[in-house]
Order: sequence, then C-alpha cells, then structure tokens
Amino acid sequence: MKTVPIKKKNRLVAYFCMEMGFVNEIPTYSGGLGILAGDTIKAAADLAVPMVGVTMLNLKGYFRQKLDEWGNQTEEDLFWHPEDFMKLQKPVVSVKLEGKDIFIRAWEYIVKGVRGYQIPVYFLDTDFDRNEEYYRTLTHHLYGGDDRYRLLQEAVMGIGGIKILEELGYKNIRKYHMNEGHAAPLALELLYRTRKDDMPPEKIETYDLEKVQRKCVFTTHTPVPAGHDKFNIDLVKSIFRETNHEHIPGELLYDGMLNMTYLALKCSEFYNAVSKKHRDISLEMFPGFDIHAITNGVHSLTWTSEPFKKLYDKYLPDWKLDPFTYLREAFEFPSEELWNVHMEAKKEFLDYVNKKNNSKMKPDVFTIGFARRATGYKRADLILSDPQRLVEIAKNAGPVQIVFSGKAHPKDPTGKDNIKKIFEVKKQLKDRISIEYLENYDIKIGGLITSGVDLWLNNPVRPLEASGTSGMKASHNGIPNLSVLDGWWIEGHIENLTGWSIGPKDHRILKEQYHPEKDVFDLYNKLEYVIIPLFYNNRSQWIHMMKASIAINASFFNTYRMLQQYVSKAYFHHL
Ligand SMILES: *Cc1c(COP(=O)(O)O)cnc(C)c1O
Repeated sequence: MKTVPIKKKNRLVAYFCMEMGFVNEIPTYSGGLGILAGDTIKAAADLAVPMVGVTMLNLKGYFRQKLDEWGNQTEEDLFWHPEDFMKLQKPVVSVKLEGKDIFIRAWEYIVKGVRGYQIPVYFLDTDFDRNEEYYRTLTHHLYGGDDRYRLLQEAVMGIGGIKILEELGYKNIRKYHMNEGHAAPLALELLYRTRKDDMPPEKIETYDLEKVQRKCVFTTHTPVPAGHDKFNIDLVKSIFRETNHEHIPGELLYDGMLNMTYLALKCSEFYNAVSKKHRDISLEMFPGFDIHAITNGVHSLTWTSEPFKKLYDKYLPDWKLDPFTYLREAFEFPSEELWNVHMEAKKEFLDYVNKKNNSKMKPDVFTIGFARRATGYKRADLILSDPQRLVEIAKNAGPVQIVFSGKAHPKDPTGKDNIKKIFEVKKQLKDRISIEYLENYDIKIGGLITSGVDLWLNNPVRPLEASGTSGMKASHNGIPNLSVLDGWWIEGHIENLTGWSIGPKDHRILKEQYHPEKDVFDLYNKLEYVIIPLFYNNRSQWIHMMKASIAINASFFNTYRMLQQYVSKAYFHHL
C-alpha cells in the first residue's frame, strides 16, 4: 500500500478529544467516548478527510483492574511507553495557568487508512523537566484528581492544543471539532484572538463571537446534567489569573459557572447529539440551541473479527473501501458458511475465557455477552436479579452461559458493587449456569466478546445511554442485540429481525409510566419464550437474524457513514 504524504497546510479539521482509543497497547481511554474518537480518526484516514487529532498522553494509563475472588476491584497504574508507538515533536508551547508558564510538547501518532492516507494525532505531554512537579502530572491520569486538576488538564488540551498545532505547521485549520465539552477552553482561546483592544474583556461585544462560531463544531455525549463538566468561577479566575481568560463574559457562563457544554454550544455554529433520542434529551437540557443528531458508529475494520473479515472478503471484496454500501449485501451469504464463521469466532473467544479464568465454557451452549464500563445506570447485574428464575429458564428453554467484563471508575462505589454482585451470583449458580467475569476490559477483550457470543445484551436505565456502540460491534459480527430501547437501539431495532427490545415499546413513554425495575421481567420472558427457543429450535431463522444484523445495522452504524454526515453537515458545508 502506498503512503500518501501528510501535507500539513491542507489539513482543515482539528479533532479534539480528552481520550482516544486506537490499539490495545495504548491504554489512554476509559470507554465509549475514547473508542468513538479513535474510530472516527480511523474512518477519516480511510476516507481521506483532511483531519488532524489532538488528545492527552495519559501516561499512567486508564488503570489495570484487579479483581479478587469476591469481585473486589483494586486499581494499578498501567504504564505504557509513548516512544514505542509515536515520535516526540520538537516544538514546545506554553500556556499561562495559575500565574505560571506551563510547557507543553506533543507526540505524533500516525493512523493510516486503507488507501494509505494518514491522519496525525498529537498526544499532549507536560511531563518533562521544564515544568514543576505538580504540572508534570497533568498528562498522567484520565479523569483523575479534583476540579482544579481537571480544569488545568482541559486548559492544557484546549489552549495548548491550538498553539501546538500552529507551531507544528497546521496553518489552515478551518474547523475545530470539540468531541465532548472537555476541549471547550479552545473556544476561549479563539475568542480572545478576536478581541478589540480598547474594550473591556468581560463584555461579549469585545469579541467577534460569530467568527469563532464559524470555526467550531461541538458534539455532546452526555444525557444527564451531572455528566457535564462545570467549574466554580473562583476556580476559573484563579487558574486563568493574569491571562486573557480571567474575565469570561457573563453570556458564556451558565448559572454563574463555567459549564463546558454550555460554553461549547455558545461558541459553535454546529452542534450535535449522538443519536436521535439523545438529541431530544439534549434539546430539553439546553433549550434555545438547534441541536442536530448524528448517530454514532464504529470502525468496521477494527471491530469485525478475523473469521468474519474473511467471509466479507470472499463475498464482498470491496467492503473495506466502503462498508457503508457493501455490508447491505449480507443476505447473500450462504447460511451454513455464516454459521461456521460465527462458531469459529465463538470458539476463539471461549478458548480465551477458559484459559484466562480456568473455566469450562462450551461452544454449543447459548452464550450471552455483556461488557461495558461498570457504572450504576448500565446495570450489569440486572440479568442476575433473580438467579432462581434464570435457572428455571435454562431448564425450560435450554442451557445458558454468560460472560461479563468491565472496569468501574476508581471512585464509583455503585459500579464496584455491581461487579461484586456478579461474583456472588456466579458462586451461587455454580454448576447450574456458568458465569464468567473477564478482568481488564479493553480493546482486545472488546473485539473478542462482541464477536464471540450469541446474543449481545444491553440494559441501561433510560434515557441514560446517549448512543452506545458495543451493540454495533456485535452487529458487525452477525450477533443480534437484546437491549433496552435507548440510544442507537431505537434506530437499529427491528423486533425479531435485528434483535429484541427490553421494556416498553414506545420509547417516548412518559417518565411517570416508565418503571426501570420492571425491565427485568421483560428480559426474562423474552429469553425464556422467544430467544432461547429460537436459538435451539429454529437455527435457520436465527441465521436470518444474523444476516439482518449485518445488512441492516452494520451497514449503517459505522464511522464511515457517521463521518460523511459530519463532513457534509458540519465541516465543509460552507466551503
Ligand atoms: C466499545 C467499547 C466501549 C463502549 O461500549 P458502549 O456499549 O458504548 O458502552 C467501551 N470500552 C471498550 C473497551 C470498548 O471496546
């Protein structure tokens, strides 16, 4: 494959995200946001969208998870070595924070697309001898520390990111895409640059807000107010003292605080939510902003297992160049061949599980997969709410085994309890239903589990799943979803064809009529009376659903389709 040289002057879009997940060996991401950012950059490389990425080095990694035999989680740093994957760049820039110059340098990581086009991504780094000890830690931990640490990090990424791109030779950036609000300080920097000298800094008229808006694109990912970063104004003043950002105009504040979502909305011309449902929720949270919907996707080439890649290569030779178009043809696959390919992926996964956990999971048993960040609203343990019922289901409908994976944030007691609950039920059901928990959920496990089970389960409390993406990975491997109607699944769900719903059919149902605790009955009933019988007794219909998952969902819920929407609606519609 030829390599297309990077012409820095031609790069028009700068994509900022606090975390980016590209490969398993670079553990700088915590979950969906980072994986999405990585998948977006990969699609940009495949489609030759003139982009450049900016993220944080997170040198100590998003932790190594240790689980003891009761499921108690402890965390350790997960050191990695930037020099093994990226090149340190010469330029060093400084940003004044807390009255001191903080120096920032960058490591260049290259993502190469299927046609040889390259996207450079800059991982920002403050851990070198020009900075005092504390400031050297700013690029160590993703989502660690207190508000002060957080705001300093966000200032390093937003303001430092803009400056270092200029120093590196990116002189023609037309759009700055803030993927989530963390990067919003970049808008403050752009704003300051439009300042009319003789006017007071705290007045919005002092700046050319429209000019900044034309340069900014913002994607929000969080459907709950608590999920939006906000900072006390005294902290803001203290961090930005003696700089241009000390007096932020009141119009850009929300309830007297620096709310990063609000700031990003105010400073962008185009903003979007990550599914249609999430758009509705976001419109309620931030009235007055015409928020668009661009539903997330996954990078098809990354998330299709090797056995399925071979199948696609055989029947749809050009699929890699355009999965958006070609995967629609999945109904053409011979059923037996598709099933064999699935069994190959399933065996590979179960071998991995059995080796890791010293277990005896069997390839001919119906296998349910569940892997996500362990946090309260995702309810990892919902399916284990009534262990006795689960045993009954297996007795009546056919044998079942379940594999879980996921890390809880170090400061999330509910997430940690969910994991312990799973370990407890695992012991209780021993010999009747085998349950395994894989330590250290990461990109590798993500790929194995979303291709190696028979059914992908997702049961968040509505409407807290902005989009969700792991179900899309499952679709790429012909695995039907069983999921609460939230996020992307409202768009991807066709009952008995692409999978099944959990809970009320009408997702627009009023809050008062929705009882999340009842979801579990629906989940059990579907398993017992619909899903497991279909799996064991009507394999040809099951395989038809596998094909539908690929043809209808994988073809659409990928980052090629998604990025093309960003290109036409957000990046280049004025050019
Ligand atoms: C895909 C993925 C996620 C995000 O999955 P969701 O369903 O969106 O929660 C998180 N972590 C890893 C390692 C993944 O591969």
